[in-house]
Parts: sequence; structure tokens; C-alpha cells
Amino acid sequence: MKSGTKSIDLGGRRLIAMRDVQDAVTAGATSIVAAENCVVTPSARDFLQQHGVELVTEKSAGGSQQAAQPASSAIAGPSVVNRRLFSTPEAEAIKKEICSVGRKLWMRQFVDGNGGNISYRIGPNEVLCSPTLVSKYDLTPDDIGMTDLEGVQIAGAKPRTSELLLHLEIYKVVPEAKAVVHCHPPHATAYAITGRVPPNLIIPEFEVFVGKVAVSPYETPGTQAFAETVLPYVKSHNTVLLSNHGIVCWADTVTHAEWYAEVLETYCWTLMLAAQLGAPISRISEEQGSDLLALKKKLGLPDIRFDASRMKECQLSDLEVPNSIALEPTPCDGPTGRSGTTTDGDLESLVRSVTDAVMDAMEK
Ligand SMILES: [Zn+2]
Repeated sequence: MKSGTKSIDLGGRRLIAMRDVQDAVTAGATSIVAAENCVVTPSARDFLQQHGVELVTEKSAGGSQQAAQPASSAIAGPSVVNRRLFSTPEAEAIKKEICSVGRKLWMRQFVDGNGGNISYRIGPNEVLCSPTLVSKYDLTPDDIGMTDLEGVQIAGAKPRTSELLLHLEIYKVVPEAKAVVHCHPPHATAYAITGRVPPNLIIPEFEVFVGKVAVSPYETPGTQAFAETVLPYVKSHNTVLLSNHGIVCWADTVTHAEWYAEVLETYCWTLMLAAQLGAPISRISEEQGSDLLALKKKLGLPDIRFDASRMKECQLSDLEVPNSIALEPTPCDGPTGRSGTTTDGDLESLVRSVTDAVMDAMEK
């Protein structure tokens, strides 16, 4: 090897994500070797490019190396599971993190009874998850189980939560999602049960860490139909309001997913408090909002507003409704009804109702 170059072999991985490439760059890698069938997440690929690190693919058997081809953005559904992952030092650390996040959720009153659930994708086809029927306050590392991406339990004494199916759908379509937190924080859930979303451009932290929130349609919790309700939204939102239920957030770590739940809940709560003061809510300007959006892009966080083709129907600050603390989701947030599909007629009536609300507010 030439001096000044360092190759890090990640040939055993089926998935290479942001954390992996950050670790490799920190370790001084100038190139990374990946297996031919490995999925490299788009953000990890961008990160490597930005740091001038070469990505080399290697055939698993012959060892001949060639330039990397663009990887599919979806996980390729491997069927082989690695049971050994369950007791690695990394798994033990994550089990502890899941427990401490569970306790945070309970302490903040984001979960009641045995509600809420937490998971982490530790391998390409392996997910650590909280069990059913245990309060998140009482979780211990021994309660955490492991399933495959289809929800079949492969390790752990306690049965997995039925709502894990929701988490698994997110992992299947969002390669960047390594952790999912689902909970029922009261103020955000108040928005979810009214089918309304909080307006944007009021508090910077919300813009950067959460941003535009979508509302997914209602289905019976724990079912596959429920799990699939979030699919139209989770690629461009890291936080979704679940109609008549609660919220779900995904992130690169369990701790970060819980942060997004905190940011959304506090935002919804603050808007409700502000509404009681009876004074106008001041807004961040569109220009300053664009700065926040640029910062968000830099952090690699998703936002539907990055998609220029959908910006027209999804303006930065929504349709301005003075002093509003809740808006009808805009069409780009997707369906709000129970059917899970939106017809042209639905969209038209939604646009008309928002336009009417704006006109009413302007006449006052
Ligand atoms: Zn729930």
C-alpha cells in the first residue's frame, strides 16, 4: 500500500450507513472496501464523496475489485439472520440505550401503561426491540428481544411488541433509519386526533429537527395495515402524526429519535400555550426559514421541502393563516382520511377548504 493511504475493509457488511463511514473517516480511511451486494445509504455515499474517500466494491468469492455502482436506496431484504449480533458489546450498549430512552419517554409522560415502543436496526436483517406488555419505565436490558425484518423473533425471552411491524416498514424503505421510537405524547397526539399539523416557521429547533409533519391515516394498531399507513411519508419526514393514535420518529440513533419526539411535543405544547395569550404569534421570515432549511440539509435530515417538484403544493410556511396553531395538512403531506388513498376530488376539496380558511382570516 502507498504511504498516506489507508483502506478499511467493510466487506462483511450488508449495509453501510452514515455512522460506519464517519467512523472510517475518523480512523483515517482513504478508501473503503464494500461487498458487491452491500447497500450503501445515499447519505453515507455523499459523505464519502465529500471527504474524498474512494468506495471500492469487492466480489465476495473471487476478491476482484471494481468501482462501486450506485446502490439501490431500498434494503434488499436479505433472509439470512445473524443471531450472534444479539450479545455483542454493541448490542448490549444499545439495549441499555433503549432502556434509558424508555425511561425518558415515561418520565416525560409520552407513554402510559405499556404504551410506546423502541427499536434499533443492529444488522441488515436484525432489529433489537422493546417487548410487549412492559412499561417503558421498567425496561431492563434483559427485556429487549431481536427479530428479523419480517418480525420473526430470533432472540430474547419476552415476546416482541405487535407495533414493531410499523418500525419494520420504516426500516425497509428508509436505509438511513437505524432507530424508531413510537409514543403517545399528549400535545402532539392532540394534533393527531384532530388531523391537523402545526404550522411552520415559528421556532428554529422545530424547523431543523422535525420540520413539516405529515398525518398518516388511522388503522388498527398492531396490524400490517397500520404499519403500512406511514409508507407514503417516511422518506421525506422523520416524524409522522398517526391519526387517532400518537407519533412515530426515526433517526440514526435511539436517542436522536426520542429527541425528535421531544421537539415535536414541546412545539405543539408551546403553540397551544401561545394561543391562550391571545396575542399574535410572530413568524420567522421565509428568507430566515431558507437558512434553517439549508442547515437541515447539511445535517442530512430529511424534509419534504427539499423536493423542488413538490414545493409548489407545499410552501415553506404553508398557506399563511394569521395566529393559527393548527393547519389542515397540505396535499403534499398526503391523505388524512381513513382510506389511505387520496383522490383528485379529495385534494381539490382540501385545497378549497385551506383557501377558504385563509380568505376568512384575511377578512377579519
Ligand atoms: Zn401506540
